[in-house]
Amino acid sequence: MSLRPLGIDPSHCFIGGVWAPGESGETLDLRNPSDGSTLCAIARGTEADIDRAVAAGEQALEGEWGRLANFERGRILHRIGQKVLEHVETLAELEALDVGKPLKQARADVIALARYMEFYAGAADKIHGTTIPFLDGYTVYTMREPHGVTGHIIPWNYPMQIIGRSVGAALTMGNAAVLKPAEEACLTALAFAGIAHEAGLPAGALNVVPGLGAEAGAALTAHPGVRHISFTGSVGVGKLIQSAAAQNVVPVTLELGGKSPQLVFEDADVAAALPFLTNAGIQNAGQTCSASSRILVHRSRYDEVVSGMAARYAALRAGPAMDDLDVGPLVSARQKQIVEGFLAQGADLEVAACGQVVESAPEGGAYVAPTLFTGVSPDHRLAQDEIFGPVQVVIPFDTEEEAVSIANGTAYGLVASVWSDSGARQMRLAKRLRAGQVFLNNYGAGGGVELPFGGSGLSGHGREKGFEALYGFSTLKTVAALHG
Ligand code: ADP
Repeated sequence: MSLRPLGIDPSHCFIGGVWAPGESGETLDLRNPSDGSTLCAIARGTEADIDRAVAAGEQALEGEWGRLANFERGRILHRIGQKVLEHVETLAELEALDVGKPLKQARADVIALARYMEFYAGAADKIHGTTIPFLDGYTVYTMREPHGVTGHIIPWNYPMQIIGRSVGAALTMGNAAVLKPAEEACLTALAFAGIAHEAGLPAGALNVVPGLGAEAGAALTAHPGVRHISFTGSVGVGKLIQSAAAQNVVPVTLELGGKSPQLVFEDADVAAALPFLTNAGIQNAGQTCSASSRILVHRSRYDEVVSGMAARYAALRAGPAMDDLDVGPLVSARQKQIVEGFLAQGADLEVAACGQVVESAPEGGAYVAPTLFTGVSPDHRLAQDEIFGPVQVVIPFDTEEEAVSIANGTAYGLVASVWSDSGARQMRLAKRLRAGQVFLNNYGAGGGVELPFGGSGLSGHGREKGFEALYGFSTLKTVAALHG
């Protein structure tokens, strides 16, 4: 598989509007998680490539890109969105092959990428400053300005969606972006750069340097020319990135995952809840920051929820991305090993049901059968740590107080949901749950492009998506004129 349909060589970097190999000439093998084969070679970007990419961004800011009116930036973003939609099938196939996600999930990601472009296209000329009443003889106003060159380090689980929310918002505010996609999956990042270029995005406004985290990623975070860093990925790397950013005193947005709970109360509509309870755990094989990996259930509805979820789990089929089943492989053999390590820790727990890996699934694929654990103690590792696999735990509770305490009882705070008919309880818990997003009688796994998203605690800080992201990707200047 290659990017040939889009006329792109996947072993190239995209810097200053030009496709070329990395300076070292070295490449990395990109694997197909569905069968373990090599998909293609990608560039192994280095510090030298990052230097060139940051310089290209600075040049773009000095040139055409930096001078465009907000509505003109919006028009370009809109055209990018349209072009993304023209390439839905190609992009979906690339994402499915690269990440291992079933085609229908990959297609939904392409649509989301287009939606980000549409949303931010419309927002580009609607973010403005204010005037501030001050002393006699003064006029004071504020302006929103770009940071400058922004660094974007993204993971392999939802490349297109994360490019949409992070690069999309940065470009909207007039920044020039340098994107370092994950070494496990970077084809759609490259494809997106090609599409954006074709749609008229000026050279240097978006630069893509694939490579290893410890090389290209670390070089990007340490670069003094980078004025803002957004990162989505693991807690460990998030800490490294925040430390690196501190050396240059630049702001960071960190989205580091979670252990998001759904709370099912005695007055819940369980039939309505069941698809959400399960899908939020197995979507993208559980490799979702906002996956709901803990299901907390009032004891009076516990058996009903467990049997309903178990029936769904028993019907789940995992297989190659292109077979478009319920669940694909995990992204890599390494990720499979990590998830199997967690499953081994659950050896003493009750398993309510497992899905099945289809017999035709290739030996070399990174498959794990979706697994539902029940009766899990809230302090068990499987109920505390982010697993990043198709694994959920069900935990019973007796009172609302206990439910809140269990829900808030991990180091994370990304998403939560409440299933209850009581409006008072919904409002009460929306306040008390520690999460950046709370869903009432639904679960959005991060929600739509319009909804601000981000967490607290080990889930990170800063908000992406919606208008809120545009504040993070810009800085506020206050102008005070004394005119008498
Ligand atoms: P995972 O463990 O799920 O693969 P990571 O947090 O390791 O997630 O990776 C997310 C992104 O961070 C990837 O693009 C990866 O290359 C990058 N990355 C990894 N290590 C570093 C680092 N030391 N500095 C900057 N980026 C890094």
